[in-house]
Formats: sequence, structure tokens, C-alpha cells
Amino acid sequence: MKEICYISTRGDKSVFSSSQAIVRGIAEDGGLFVPTEMPKLSSDLNTLIELNYRDLAYEILKLFLTDFTEEELKYCINSAYDEKFDTPVIAPIAKAKDNYFLELFHGPTLAFKDMALTILPYLLKTSAKKLNIDSEIVILTATSGDTGKAALEGFANIDGIKIIVYFPQNGVSEVQKKQMITQEGFNTYVVGIEGNFDDAQSGVKNIFTDEDFNGKLKEKGFMFSSANSINIGRLVPQVVYYFYAYAQMCKSGDIKVGDEINFVVPTGNFGNILAGYYAKELGLPVGKLICASNENKVLFDFMATGTYDKKRAFILTMSPSMDILISSNLERLLYTLSGQDSSKVKDLMDKLNSNGVYNISDDMKQALKDFVGGYASEENTTKAIKDVFENSDYLMDTHTAVAYSVYKEYKDSSGDDRKTVIVSTASPYKFTANVMKAIDSKYDGQDEFELMNEMETLSKVIIPESIRDLNTKPILHTTICAKDEMKQQVEKILNI
Ligand SMILES: *Cc1c(COP(=O)(O)O)cnc(C)c1O
Repeated sequence: MKEICYISTRGDKSVFSSSQAIVRGIAEDGGLFVPTEMPKLSSDLNTLIELNYRDLAYEILKLFLTDFTEEELKYCINSAYDEKFDTPVIAPIAKAKDNYFLELFHGPTLAFKDMALTILPYLLKTSAKKLNIDSEIVILTATSGDTGKAALEGFANIDGIKIIVYFPQNGVSEVQKKQMITQEGFNTYVVGIEGNFDDAQSGVKNIFTDEDFNGKLKEKGFMFSSANSINIGRLVPQVVYYFYAYAQMCKSGDIKVGDEINFVVPTGNFGNILAGYYAKELGLPVGKLICASNENKVLFDFMATGTYDKKRAFILTMSPSMDILISSNLERLLYTLSGQDSSKVKDLMDKLNSNGVYNISDDMKQALKDFVGGYASEENTTKAIKDVFENSDYLMDTHTAVAYSVYKEYKDSSGDDRKTVIVSTASPYKFTANVMKAIDSKYDGQDEFELMNEMETLSKVIIPESIRDLNTKPILHTTICAKDEMKQQVEKILNI
């Protein structure tokens, strides 16, 4: 099989193996790692759709992670996709009336982040071993709510790794916050910051690219890595479920092998939808990738106009995991759209950093044709939850509702009647208060944890094991810091 290597989107000429890229997380010049070329599928679609999740994962991962042995990859896959998920299907499609929901929330923390963060710790540990790294690895993670918990859960109690999570103190749901601050594990650290997700993410990126600080760390026997979707080890496992969704649609007879389908993806950092794009590039018959934003609609505007402008008010919405104005993974798409022109990408990213805005050329805009942008207001998100529940007894979370709302609008305005899979990124139990309020205003203001019982009665889906006793768990993490003190927090935690 052809070896796939990784390089920076911003022009640094160093070439890395997949294990090196996973350990490093981000390139030294601040760019993201991208494969030097798109690999080619080694089996045809007819074969792939017969596979179970693990076997399919192997077929996809081996294309991108070419310096891992079969044994290593299978060990990682089997360790990740096991009973931690509450269904052996791992990522089932729920059909509710005419809608197909790809449920990516059956993992331990009830959000789609588990799809990749259950396997990343194994990929990282295996990579470090292959590369004979003896430094202790420090995972720095910024979270808009779901990544944090999923990463903590994945990395907890793993020897040789410490994990530090920064979350916006006032920008996550009650359940998300509780999940994080009650995290157990000798190597887990959770810090609330007085700022929003973009502040947290920029802070982490700055620490990663601070040469002096990295040097100091190295002297003390530590090195940084990332659990954010900038890590290629997170992106690649997400490609798998696009194929798997397609396979389920074929098996259920909803489509024939070869038919095109669309995906609508509730988007924040652009990681999930980018994996869908990679799946399409690998040859999956995907029509449109519909990029759904909430009121922080920077991506919608970008797709409509070719101008990316982050200079706008940051809005706290009921879909907090999408409250993002700097969508990191878009950089990888720009790299592809520009014909792998890293100087172009660097120029755009420099403009974003210094002016908060950039424009793409008409050629690049043309190349965006696989995507459609849409956004849902808070009102339409609420309405979507209520409508779907009333019409089909299916309860969506707030993020999935954004996707649904955008899809309906797209379908009505475009007349595109290809089958469309709505990527469902979280369990409604993670956002109980807002979901219940959308169903009936009488629930407004009620205790989030008490509402879980009501939700159970209404939805006939039992409260997931992992949050059943959340409210009574002891709080283990209480640190809060200013957004410019993130580095000092690292020093304090590592005692350096
Ligand atoms: C992270 C997240 C998203 C956004 O995914 P990106 O890969 O950042 O675009 C959407 N919904 C939920 C529930 C999430 O946790």
C-alpha cells in the first residue's frame, strides 16, 4: 500500500509519518497536518458496505495511517469501539417518518466526539511507542462543551499522559459542565476560563506554537499534543461513519449501491463535515454536504459570499458546541480548494489573524460547489425540535435540530430530492433544559436534572447510564482562570 505522509497547510516543508503527525497535533508553523495526497480505496463499495463498524474502520484507517501495522490498528479499533457504546451497531441510523438520523451519540459521553475520542488515546499511545518517545505527553484541549468530556473520558488514567481541558466558564450546558467538573482520574485537569470557546482555542494554539515554552517543557520531560479536531488522529476516524451510514442506507433498501446521498452536518469547527468531504474524495457517492450553522453563522456567510469575517458578536445559543467563530478545520478545506497552495493558505490565515477577515478567489469559490451553507435561528431550532417530536415522536437535541431546520429549508428551496442523512451529534439528554422547553414552555426554568425524568417519559428513551447519577457526583475540579492565564495554569499543573 502506498505510504501517506503529512505536511503543514502553511508551507513548512517537513514531512511526517501519520504517527508523528498524531503525536505533534499541529505543525510548527501553526498550520494543520494534511495528507500529501488523498489515498485510494482498496476495496470497492459493494465489499465495504457488508462490513461491521470495526472492520470498516480498519479499511478506512489503514488508508490514512500507513505506518501503523495491521495489528496496531486493530488493537486501537477494538479497544475503542466496544461496550463503551450502548449499541453494537456503534452508529445506527434512526428512521423517523421520512428522515434519517445518523446517531453519533451512543458513546460514553453522549456526543459525536466519542466517535473519534474513544480511539485517539490508543492511536496516540501507539504512536508514542512506535516513535520511542519517553517524554510525558500533555494533552491540551479547548472545548465548546463536548470535546472536553469525551477527551477526559478517553485519556483518564492512562499512564504517561496528562490531560488539561479548558472550557468557557459560561458557555456550556449544565450537563456538559457537570460531566467535566466531576471527572475522575489521576491525570485529568479541568479549567474554566473567563472567555468564550474561540478564546480557549486561540490560547491553546498559542501555547502549542510558543517555542520557548515548548523548549522549557521538553527540558522538564514533557511534550504537548492535542485532542482537538486539528489532530489528524481525530479527523480520520470520523471518515468511517460516513461510509457506515451509506452502508446502512443500502442495506435497508433506501438506496442502491452507487446512488448519491446528501449529508447535513451541524457544524462548528468544521471537523465533522470535513470528514464527510474526505469520504467523498475517497469515492463515497455523496451529493451535497450541507453545512448547518446556528446564529454564529460565519460559515454560512462565507459560503454565500466567499468572505470569511469573524469580526462579529459571539452569540451564546442553545447549541453551544457550535458557538464558534473561528472554524479551524476550514483551513484544511482551503488547502484542497486552492489546489494545495500552502502560500495561499498562509496568506489567508495571516489575514484572519491580523484583520479578522479574508476573501477567497472566484476559483476557490467555484470549488466550494460540493457544499451548501445554511443556518438556523434560535426560533427555528426550537420549532424544529417541536415539529419533529409532534410529527414522528423523535426527540432531537438542539444541535441536530439546527441541522434539521437547515435541511428542510434547503430541500424546499432547491428541490433536491436525493436521500439525505441528518448527522445527529448529541443525545437530547445533554441539553435537557432547552429541548424540553422547546416541546412545551411549561418546562421553562425547571431544574435540568429533574427534567431528565420528564424527558424519559416523553421520549420513551431511557436516561443513559453515564448521566443517570451525574447530579450527585462530587465536584472535583474548581479552577477558573482569565483567558490570558492559560499558560500559567499549565505551569502550575505540571509544577514547572
Ligand atoms: C462538536 C460538536 C459539533 C460541531 O462539530 P465540528 O466538528 O466542530 O464542526 C456539533 N454538535 C455537537 C453536539 C458537537 O459536540
